[in-house]
Amino acid sequence: MNKPKILIVEDDPAIRNLISATLEAHDYQYHTAMNGASAILESASYIPDVMILDLGLPDLDGVEIIRRVRSWSNLPIIVVSARSEDSDKVEALDAGADDYLTKPFSIEELLARLRVALRRVRYDSARLLDESSVYVNGDLKIDYAAGCVYIKEQEVHLTPIEYKLLCVLARNTGKVLTHNFILKEVWGSAMASDTPSLRVFMATLRKKIEETPASPKYIQTHIGIGYRMLRQ
Ligand code: CA
Repeated sequence: MNKPKILIVEDDPAIRNLISATLEAHDYQYHTAMNGASAILESASYIPDVMILDLGLPDLDGVEIIRRVRSWSNLPIIVVSARSEDSDKVEALDAGADDYLTKPFSIEELLARLRVALRRVRYDSARLLDESSVYVNGDLKIDYAAGCVYIKEQEVHLTPIEYKLLCVLARNTGKVLTHNFILKEVWGSAMASDTPSLRVFMATLRKKIEETPASPKYIQTHIGIGYRMLRQ
């Protein structure tokens, strides 16, 4: 990939300047948009690799922008919102955002989120050429056709629920998935009261696939929001 193209959508000039200065210094290309209408235009014409989207814009609701962009594009969307707005983040993730940054954020956090997003872009484009039904991520391998999971070539025995859970996370590698999304995918319905049992299944799954379940390298926890499979 040449210099990655980033679209910054932010109406606050101070934050917009901070993000653009950071990208400039780290060899990214970028365009900026100050409202939702130009965000949608730019995402269609500039064709960014990643969009950084402030949820509080003067004209359009951030979630509406995500829905519209998702109707034609799968580009990673990192939403930016204030700490008090956890429900906004969840709504944005369920609408198709990949990740979030909480204001105020550090330059290191911003760059780390971009790296995760770009890893997904690179992986997705490589994946298009690869028809295999095998998922490989570091030492983790899922053979979808056989329904088998391996760590370092050793088969791991998962219960049907653990396997389903792992497949949902793997299929969405790099993306933060909300509790609701995961519950719906695995059990077919989502009730807030199910979140504790999700936590239990996640713990047993981690014991089986993570070398150190207390500091997991595959499945990341997002407190109050959900989980994410990280690309190794
Ligand atoms: Ca704003």
